[in-house]
Amino acid sequence: MLSDHQNGIPLFRFESLPENGSLGKLRAGRLHHAIFTRQGGTSAAPFDTLNLSVSVPDEKERVYANRRRAYGMYGRDTDTVVHAHLVHGNDVAQVTQANNGTWMPRVDGIITNEPGCALTMNFADCTPIFLYDPAHHAIGLGHAGWQGTVKDLPGSMVRAMVQAFDSDPAQLLAGIGPCIGPCCYEVGELVITAVHETFPDADDLFVAPVGEKRPFSQGNGPHFDMPEANRRNLANAGVQQIELSGLCTACRTDLFFSHRAERGRTGRFGTIFVLGE
Ligand SMILES: [Zn+2]
Repeated sequence: MLSDHQNGIPLFRFESLPENGSLGKLRAGRLHHAIFTRQGGTSAAPFDTLNLSVSVPDEKERVYANRRRAYGMYGRDTDTVVHAHLVHGNDVAQVTQANNGTWMPRVDGIITNEPGCALTMNFADCTPIFLYDPAHHAIGLGHAGWQGTVKDLPGSMVRAMVQAFDSDPAQLLAGIGPCIGPCCYEVGELVITAVHETFPDADDLFVAPVGEKRPFSQGNGPHFDMPEANRRNLANAGVQQIELSGLCTACRTDLFFSHRAERGRTGRFGTIFVLGE
């Protein structure tokens, strides 16, 4: 990942996704994307400071002010981006600018090939999935926690892009963003069983705890490698070019919100994926 800074707001970008044109001049470019951090916003603890979600009990005025700062870098605001009502499933919706300012109901993946369309989602440990089809100039943004991972949300996104845009999975560029990593993601029987039922080679998706016990750990259970599981989901769908962020949200609560590490009392960091004209 590349780290950058714009108007006092830190952000990360995938090295493999092209970033054309200058920020704020969308028409000059063809593609923009960002993973914001928790820094550079207006919210008070425990939502400090760049919380972009109204699904947590932060003050709404501060969330809207935060969105103006973050989305504003791309000439956007709440009403000129597409949102998704995330439900930990594997349904994917195709969207256009007609969906601006609305929450796509009950989907964890949104895709578009309409130039000018901007997709957003918010996270705090779940896996952000970015897909770009340079041949058909189409994008997808997804959200996979452990449930979306075992339901193969990333594969559903790839298949939706194949169907909607005639995308070739081998040509797609994929990014797996900051999420809770195998260093921190202790799981119980429910997750272990579900992963074994889904992945034929599941044993090496679990690692024994390493180093000091995390303060938020419940016990001494195995740790799930969720980013690697989603890399396999994408690879199984035919994607060959996959970049992993290498960043763990629970290790880096200085940079990101982490539902697990902060015991549920936290905000959500944002992502944006803009298809230029
Ligand atoms: Zn970690």
